[in-house]
Amino acid sequence: MAWTAHVLTLFPEVFPGPLGASLAGAGLDKGLWTLSVTDIRNFATNRHRSVDDTPYGGGGGMVLRPDVVDAALETAKRAQPAAKAVYLTPRGRPLCQDLARALVAAEGLILLCGRYEGVDERVLEKHALSEVSVGDYVLSGGELAAMVVVDSVVRLLPGVMGNAASPKEESFGSGFGGLLLEHPHYTRPAVWQGRAVPAELQNGHHAEIRAWRRRQAEAMTQARRPDLWRVYSGEDDTGGRET
Ligand code: SAM
Repeated sequence: MAWTAHVLTLFPEVFPGPLGASLAGAGLDKGLWTLSVTDIRNFATNRHRSVDDTPYGGGGGMVLRPDVVDAALETAKRAQPAAKAVYLTPRGRPLCQDLARALVAAEGLILLCGRYEGVDERVLEKHALSEVSVGDYVLSGGELAAMVVVDSVVRLLPGVMGNAASPKEESFGSGFGGLLLEHPHYTRPAVWQGRAVPAELQNGHHAEIRAWRRRQAEAMTQARRPDLWRVYSGEDDTGGRET
């Protein structure tokens, strides 16, 4: 069975969005991965089909009800018993390339998108959801975060990227221990508005090109990501960043 992302959301109409475009979209069309989207509101039971309620303890905003989210999760788990269930939340484990590599090895994902103030804690506990964050900022809902997670994962599936790029050589690629940003890229024309493509890339000498790219990747990482650089260069042997 193809790797499946099963999204639970109050806004199913925003999918597939960018996941339906370009290489991820072509992979979806070819059946290299599948996307299923469920409207959490389908599991509302009261007359008004409400999915949220006011928070205990007061304060602004609304909280997604545990009974509604539970019913959505139970149904998704029955459809995909081996999938890993994830709640998108700013307090989750930060998404990084290592995590994307781990998630592609899972037998598909169930992705719970929160809204408003979030989801009642008890249903998160009951389902022991893994929690993933896409960064230290607050989005209005989990949908964009789910798209980011799914995009980072499906491009690692065999056949999705074709020859477009090697995940090994990209930023955080396994080729450099996951610690280097990528080198710069150039295409034709060889001289554009007085700026020439570096000579090293034009001589067709593969070893020199590799060495140039490596030097550039190292310089870029040292300048922009001192946290990664310290680990790569051995200054920090604790593993450095959080993964
Ligand atoms: N009250 C929450 C807090 O302070 O952490 C923020 C709730 S946010 C407005 C609504 C939903 O957006 C969250 O339940 C979560 O699903 C999603 N979300 C927001 N920021 C996110 C992030 N950085 N990573 C992943 N999901 C996020």
